[in-house]
Amino acid sequence: MTTVSFNRTKIIATIGPACSSSAQLKELAEAGMDVCRLNFSHGEYQQVAAIVESVIQLNREDGFSISLMADLQGPKLRVGLMSGEGAMLNEGAKVLITNEEVEGNSDRFTLRYPLLSEDLKPGERILLDDGKMEVEIFAILNEKEVEASVIRGGVLKSKKGFNLPGSNVSLPAITEKDLADLQFALSLDVDWVALSFVRRASDVQQLKDIIAASGKSARVIAKIEKPEAVSNIDSIIGIADAIMIARGDLGIEIPLQEVPILQKNIIQKCIAAAKPVIVATQMMESMMENSMPSRAEVTDVANAVIDGADAVMLSGETSVGKFPVLTVATMNKIITDVERDSRPYVRGSQPKCCGPTFVSDEICYSATRMSAHMNAKGIVVMTQSGSSALRVSSYRPKSPVFVFSENLKLLRTLNLAWGICGFHYDNYKSTDQSITDTIEILKNKGIVVVGDVLIHTASMPIGKRERANALKVSVVD
Ligand code: PEP
Repeated sequence: MTTVSFNRTKIIATIGPACSSSAQLKELAEAGMDVCRLNFSHGEYQQVAAIVESVIQLNREDGFSISLMADLQGPKLRVGLMSGEGAMLNEGAKVLITNEEVEGNSDRFTLRYPLLSEDLKPGERILLDDGKMEVEIFAILNEKEVEASVIRGGVLKSKKGFNLPGSNVSLPAITEKDLADLQFALSLDVDWVALSFVRRASDVQQLKDIIAASGKSARVIAKIEKPEAVSNIDSIIGIADAIMIARGDLGIEIPLQEVPILQKNIIQKCIAAAKPVIVATQMMESMMENSMPSRAEVTDVANAVIDGADAVMLSGETSVGKFPVLTVATMNKIITDVERDSRPYVRGSQPKCCGPTFVSDEICYSATRMSAHMNAKGIVVMTQSGSSALRVSSYRPKSPVFVFSENLKLLRTLNLAWGICGFHYDNYKSTDQSITDTIEILKNKGIVVVGDVLIHTASMPIGKRERANALKVSVVD
């Protein structure tokens, strides 16, 4: 009997004061965390460096392959300073909004947005503090000031975020702060860089170019949280290495009730393109305070698993919540139970002849189909770049995807993707030898036993290091 079991859907935990010590990180890893998210909207460089050091140590000493994600703030818009503990914006009242720094009150406050008068038009809305308050512009007074009326009131506090859902924001995609944060994150050799408030494919390309110019191999996650990104979703999926459905800001920028169907559509598109897709925000929100999630949260996580998301993400629940480890463990249990159902599995269709990757895509597709027919214990993928591993994963096979590579960083990177479980292997002498070795490794770890079927994809001859072009079935003896 094989005893080792694997969750296919991965868990991303945002690291913050509630969970950043090396002991806490180890507990999170043991509870099921696959990816650490370092949120550059908060946190000091020194703390981030210490977290990365602890994760690398965990990977080295405890056999984890935890992936590291740096999340850049992007052009986040913020209110200026408000007097005291904040000021009441009264429903129906008129307010003056300026881009000059003033101490805000109920009649006048600052939006830190230089192009206020140029980019905003009468009739457009400004959502304040995650949409808790809303004002509508009715006059552009001059280049520094606009007049608005309060549609939904409340207490506006200093430096709260704001969103301009209907406006064309003409800010750069990557800010000065992002550039500094990026260089720091790259110096720590992170695996993934997430870019906030992506609007178009060229935003993602710009980030990829900067990373390439730095000589690093970090891959880029486009966070989908702007209506423009939704309109440009196909080209963004085409260029990004992965997608995050960032439901926090997305749910402010588009009507909230449109988020669920959009989420399902984006997941489908990403699976078809073999690009990992993450569902983020408020998945277990009530566990910031409580030791149990709500029924709705359990169902939200379950639905993301059923729809085939590669990963589900925790934000405040782990970074500042009361029960970070319990939240990860609870999410892990939900995933395990839901994955017993047949619904999360088997996606995608046979690749169409004859694009540039047709041969390897067909090998990956056939490996998946055979693994189902033969009730295989796993699909063993030898990978150089990770592309065949991601392709096999995208077909959502019932069998786990055991990825072997000499490249430890690649294995860490792939740990974000659905169903992938990585193993270090660097004894590339012949295809036969490496197949024998990989079976031995899986046997020694108790993952397979005598009589189990494995499907192997490989590139022959091994020395040429090309895309997968061979398929082999082995029975463990
Ligand atoms: C989101 O808006 O859902 C999100 C993940 O981004 P952030 O946490 O950076 O606001």
